[in-house]
Amino acid sequence: MVIPQIKNDLMNRKILLDESDIPTHWYNIMADMPNKPLPPLNPKTGQPAGPGDLSPIFPMGLIMQEVSTERYVEIPDEVREIYKIWRPTPMYRATGLEKLLGTPAKIYYKYEGVSPSGSHKPNTAVPQAYYNKQEGVKSITTETGAGQWGTALAFACAQFGIRCEVYMVRISYDQKPYRKVMMNTFGAEVYPSPSDRTEAGRRILAEDPETSGSLGIAISEAIERAVMDDDTKYSLGSVLNHVLLHQTVIGQEAIKQLEYAGDYPDVVIAPLGGGSNFAGISFPFLKNNLTEGKNTRFVAVEPASCPKLTQGEFMYDFGDSAGYTPLLPMYTLGHNFKPAAIHAGGLRYHGASVLCSQLLKDGLIEAVALQQLECFEAGVMLAKSEGIIAAPEATHAVAQVIREANQAKEEGVEKTILFNLCGHGYVDMQAYDDYFAGKLTDHSFTENELKEGLKEIRELQPL
Ligand SMILES: *Cc1c(COP(=O)(O)O)cnc(C)c1O
Repeated sequence: MVIPQIKNDLMNRKILLDESDIPTHWYNIMADMPNKPLPPLNPKTGQPAGPGDLSPIFPMGLIMQEVSTERYVEIPDEVREIYKIWRPTPMYRATGLEKLLGTPAKIYYKYEGVSPSGSHKPNTAVPQAYYNKQEGVKSITTETGAGQWGTALAFACAQFGIRCEVYMVRISYDQKPYRKVMMNTFGAEVYPSPSDRTEAGRRILAEDPETSGSLGIAISEAIERAVMDDDTKYSLGSVLNHVLLHQTVIGQEAIKQLEYAGDYPDVVIAPLGGGSNFAGISFPFLKNNLTEGKNTRFVAVEPASCPKLTQGEFMYDFGDSAGYTPLLPMYTLGHNFKPAAIHAGGLRYHGASVLCSQLLKDGLIEAVALQQLECFEAGVMLAKSEGIIAAPEATHAVAQVIREANQAKEEGVEKTILFNLCGHGYVDMQAYDDYFAGKLTDHSFTENELKEGLKEIRELQPL
């Protein structure tokens, strides 16, 4: 491939690929993990959950990917064709941010904000809608936190003529009205969660009518709707193995782009809500650590108000509040944990994906928790120097990048930093407005919250 090199000779700031460079396969880290994750468990029997446990809510095509240990899974042509709307995504050398920081570090970022919904989420929404369509599904239900996932799935369902029903966490429904309008424009129905349309929702509303909701509750509602109807399935935008698998197009493209730039990362940084964009950019590079002796560090950044990786415990827990999902072995704060109502709605999830949890436990990735004020400050620096206003979730990565770049400056060492700018913040301007108005505060997570959150699930432990 010659064209990118010619482009990049002139200017190293933007590294573009051709449509023919869209990966042909997704990469499955399961094939190369030294310790395979523990199996999900059926909560009723305590036995490993098999495909049959999942078939009421997911199509078989996705269930087979969920349990697959094949290193590469072929991307269907129809999916690649839709990927062409926004893929390959650009990579930038952050020369503006480097100059602002006066750092000897080289900073690169992959920008997923160019997708139809403005984040990495369509990378998995499209294949999920595709496999549902293959199996004759007429309607898909889901939850959404900040609205990013709901928008992505609404777009994907529109591509395949599938009905889409979204349960949106109450606080985001109120804070981000334009996300709802985007979903409606793509043809989806959107309900604030908890709602009175499900048993799980009605139960929570009875306890606390003023609740701001949580992802765990919204997931329960969406699953409940899906199991009620044979033509309806449920779709999850993060956490599960097949979701992380689909996101690996990000890292595979990034490897090629850095090759054209003649570089390789010392550290890869991404925000972590459930783990999908972190996995997407990291796993293809982590493969090179595991199989080619590379030594890249991988840093997942979570909010200090929802610190499952740095303060949670590794145990079996449900993926949702009502306990409808199988038990998953993961770092968790407890499925009934209610994180503070920070603006980075996509990071307000009580657990972390099984794959990321196992990798953290094995010391193959790192985690850090940051306060939101530092993150917004970083987001403003990025906007001024690079011209992109990051989603509040993505500012968590930017803040950690700035820490690493400042450390490189103090130590006088060169290093190459890659981060995932996983979404833009143009539908999140209320968050920036609140930040400028001094309305945002840092939230400290307490020992007591942790004890409360984990009390109930300790009794669930099979071991
Ligand atoms: C959903 C979302 C996240 C968090 O989800 P992951 O599965 O951890 O990637 C982070 N950033 C943005 C912009 C999102 O939309």
